Amino acid sequence: MRAAILLTPGVIEVRDIPRPRPRRGELLVHVHTALTCGTDLKAFRRGHPVIPMPGPFGHEFSGFVTEVGKGVRRFREGDAIMAVHSAPCRSCQYCKRKLYNHCDHIMETKILGAFAEEILLPAHIVSQNVFPKPSHLSFSEAAMLEPLACVVHGLEMLGTKRDGYALIIGAGPIGLLHLLLLKKRGFSVAVMDTNRARLAIAKNLGADRTITAEDGQLLRTLSPRKEILRRTKTDRIGMFDCVFECTGSRDVWEESVTYVRKGGTVILFGGCPSGTSVTYDAGRLHYDEITLRGVFHFRPEDVKKAYDLLCGSKVGVLPLVSGCFPLSRIQHVFELLSKGKGIKYAIIP
Ligand SMILES: [Zn+2]
Ligand SMILES: [Zn+2]
Repeated sequence: MRAAILLTPGVIEVRDIPRPRPRRGELLVHVHTALTCGTDLKAFRRGHPVIPMPGPFGHEFSGFVTEVGKGVRRFREGDAIMAVHSAPCRSCQYCKRKLYNHCDHIMETKILGAFAEEILLPAHIVSQNVFPKPSHLSFSEAAMLEPLACVVHGLEMLGTKRDGYALIIGAGPIGLLHLLLLKKRGFSVAVMDTNRARLAIAKNLGADRTITAEDGQLLRTLSPRKEILRRTKTDRIGMFDCVFECTGSRDVWEESVTYVRKGGTVILFGGCPSGTSVTYDAGRLHYDEITLRGVFHFRPEDVKKAYDLLCGSKVGVLPLVSGCFPLSRIQHVFELLSKGKGIKYAIIP
């Protein structure tokens, strides 16, 4: 079967690899649609600690079951499915505490290789995180299950809060998924980015306000507290109830606390390169009681919630797909993304 192999940063080769066969509890799936993701792009640009090179990559997908391993009862050959690429072990110290996204084995037992004609789903994923795809959902929408589960998990940190004023920094795929879910919850949402094309998409998806990063630069040059006081008299910027960092850059991690109101929450979603250190104004954390919250990955309950949202057509995710390409054009697709063109692309193997 044909599969895309990421050889070194910047170089992808589509080659023939042996077709896997499902063992007990496993499913072999023909990939109908695989989506590109920010993590794939990071791997393409500079390498990524959880995407070994050279190796297969791609982890957002939907397709048809082509072969069923012994003991699998929920699925049959020909079933249309949607899935995520990991599942917890259910027996480690973290799983016993129900902290499933922190499972000791979740990263080493995840699967990569959705940019290929077929992908083998191991038993622990089949039993927890594979779902039938309803016919009213397109394969591209179904392939959004994984990123949507990540965002659903991040929003859990807000508890039951159903309205307020939110700032999303970074209008990439993850920032825009935040926008869709926050609007659905009744939040007013501002989106900040350097890329005006992306801000235009955010506006179309319902952003109440878009802010170019140059505006953000202005905010940063003044003392945050003074700036917040000044701005709150004339403008609601600087008093966001919650701020979502969706860029994964150190400067933005640090900057994000300047935008949140006293007692507000900053959700740090975008991962920085490992070893990165950040510095925060202690006064903002202490006197202003700001909560800083990192979020990572998702639990099976987040996947189920994301599945229900997609099946209920509660979030219009299709505008995030900027185009469709065959597997043979995957190098071109990642070059487009590297230039900041497009949000996500569908690869049709
Ligand atoms: Zn992803
Ligand atoms: Zn575990």
